[in-house]
Amino acid sequence: MNEKPVDQSTVRTWHTEADVIIVGGGGAGISAAIEAAERGADVIVLEAGDEAGGSTAMAGGLIYMGGGTPVQKACGFEDDTEEMYKFLLLAAGPYADRAKVRLYCDRSLEHYDWLVRQGVEFKSEYYPGKHTNTPNEAALMITGNEEAWPYVDHAKPAPRGHKPRIKGDHGGIPLMHSLLNSARLKGVDVICNARALAPVTNGSTVVGVTARIDMREMCISARRGVILAAGGFIMNEDMVATYAPTLSRGNWPNGNPNDTGGGIRIGMAAGGSIVCMHEGFICTPFYPPQQFLESIIVNEHGARFINEDVYHGRLGSAILERQDGRYYLVIDSRHFDVLDRAPMGGYPVAGTGDSIEELAKELHLPPEALAQTLQTYNGHASAGVDPEHHKNPKYLFPLDSPPYAAFDLTPGNGAIFATMTFGGLDTKPTGEVLNTEKAIIPGLYAAGRNSAGLPRSAAGYASGMSIGDATFFGRLAGQSAASRNRGSSRIKT
Ligand SMILES: Cc1cc2nc3c(=O)[nH]c(=O)nc-3n(C[C@H](O)[C@H](O)[C@H](O)COP(=O)(O)OP(=O)(O)OC[C@H]3O[C@@H](n4cnc5c(N)ncnc54)[C@H](O)[C@@H]3O)c2cc1C
Repeated sequence: MNEKPVDQSTVRTWHTEADVIIVGGGGAGISAAIEAAERGADVIVLEAGDEAGGSTAMAGGLIYMGGGTPVQKACGFEDDTEEMYKFLLLAAGPYADRAKVRLYCDRSLEHYDWLVRQGVEFKSEYYPGKHTNTPNEAALMITGNEEAWPYVDHAKPAPRGHKPRIKGDHGGIPLMHSLLNSARLKGVDVICNARALAPVTNGSTVVGVTARIDMREMCISARRGVILAAGGFIMNEDMVATYAPTLSRGNWPNGNPNDTGGGIRIGMAAGGSIVCMHEGFICTPFYPPQQFLESIIVNEHGARFINEDVYHGRLGSAILERQDGRYYLVIDSRHFDVLDRAPMGGYPVAGTGDSIEELAKELHLPPEALAQTLQTYNGHASAGVDPEHHKNPKYLFPLDSPPYAAFDLTPGNGAIFATMTFGGLDTKPTGEVLNTEKAIIPGLYAAGRNSAGLPRSAAGYASGMSIGDATFFGRLAGQSAASRNRGSSRIKT
C-alpha cells in the first residue's frame, strides 16, 4: 500500500519549486498556505481535484470553538476554556492527544478571530433544537454530547459549534470560499488536477514530492518543507479494511472522491508513523426529527442500551461496534406525526402494534422483555429520572399512548451509517511528522485528516472537531514549515 520514496540523487529535472509545497487544497492545506505565505514563504498547493475545497467545502462547516467567542457572548452564553478543555479531552477518548487538545482550547478565541480576518462570517444567532446542523443562518448550536451523560457530568455544557453564514447545511462552502480568497490574495499558487504521488528524500529529509500534472510526472522541490494535507482514507476500501474494519460496516462513506489516503501513504513512505488508524466517525442520524429523542431505542433483547439524547455519532458507534444485533427506535402515537416525513436516518418502519406486546411480536423481540423495558422506562420518566441510562429529563416522557411503532436501526436494513476516518500520521502540534522512534522527519509536516488530530473517538465525537482541527493545526503546520531554514534552489538555471 505504500508509495516508494524517490531519492533526490535520481531526480534528473526539478520542474518547479517553492519554499513550501502543500499537498491538498482543503481546509487544512489552505489554512497552512495562508499562514506560510503571511510569513514570507512562496507557496504552491497541489490539488488533485478540478477545484480546491475538498471535504471541507462539502461539509456542514461547523467549527468547534469556545471559551467565550463573540457569537457565544452575543447569544447570551457564558463559556470557559477549562470547561471546553474538559469536554474535548473526554470527547477525544482514550487516545486523546492532550497537548493538541490543550493548545486548541487555549487558542480557540484567537482561531475565531483569525477565521473572521480571512473573511468568514458568523451570524450571532443560536439554534436551540437538536439537529445535525442549523437549518437557518444561525451560527451557533450544540453539536455533540455536551448535554448528554456522561459528558454533562464532566464539563459544563455550552454551544460551541459555529457555522459560517449560509442558510442550511452547507457552511463548508462559504468557509472555503473565504479561505481560498484569502490565500490567493496572499499570492498562494493553487494548481488543480495535480496529484502528489511520492516524497522526494535526501537521506531522512523530505525535499520535495513527485506529482502528476497534465498527465506528466513532475518533480517539485520544497526549499523549506512539504505539508501533507490531502484528507482521510474513507474512499479507499483496502485501507479501511486493513486499518479500520469497523468503518467497513458503514454504508455511506462521508467524504470527497480523493479521500483515498494518498497523503498518509506519502508520509509513510517518508518514514512517518501512523496512529489511531482504527478510529473514525460513525453517524446514524436518528434526529431530526427532534421528537425521536423522546423515543426508546432497544436491541434484539428488547432492552435499552444507551441514553437516547446522545449525539448521533455516539449511537452509530454503539451500534456498529457490535458485530451483530438488531436495533429499533420505538415511539408511541403521540409522535405519529413524524411518520408523515421520512426520518433523516433513512430508517424503514419495522413494525406497529396496538400494544407493546403486539409490536414486540412483529419485531420478533421477546414480548415480556420489551414490555418490562417500557414499564420501567415509563415509571422513571413519569418521575423525570432515568437511573439506568441517564437521559436528560427534558426528553423524558412516558411512552404510554398506544398504538406503538418502531423504526429499524439495524445495519443493513436501510439505516444510514455514515463513516469517515480519524487516523493519520503521528504529528506534533506544530505539524512536524514523527517516525516510529518519535523523531521529527526534517522537512515533512501534516495536518487535517492526513494526521491524527483532535477527533480520535467515534463515541465522543462532536461536529466541528474536524474542521476546527484541520484549520487550526493546518495553520500551525504552515507556520512551522515557513519558519524552517530556507534551503537553496535545486533548479539549475
Ligand atoms: C458531508 C460532510 C459533512 C461534514 N460536516 C462537518 C462539519 O460540519 N464539521 C466538521 O468539523 N467536520 C465535518 N466533516 C468532516 C470534515 O469536513 C473533514 O474531516 C475535514 O474537512 C478534512 O479536512 P482536510 O483539509 O484534512 O481534508 P479535505 O478538506 O478533504 O482536503 C483534502 C484535499 O486534498 C486533495 N487530495 C487528496 N489526495 C491528493 C493528492 N495525492 N494530491 C493532491 N491533492 C490531494 C483532495 O482533493 C482535497 O481537496 C464533514 C464531512 C463531510 C463529507
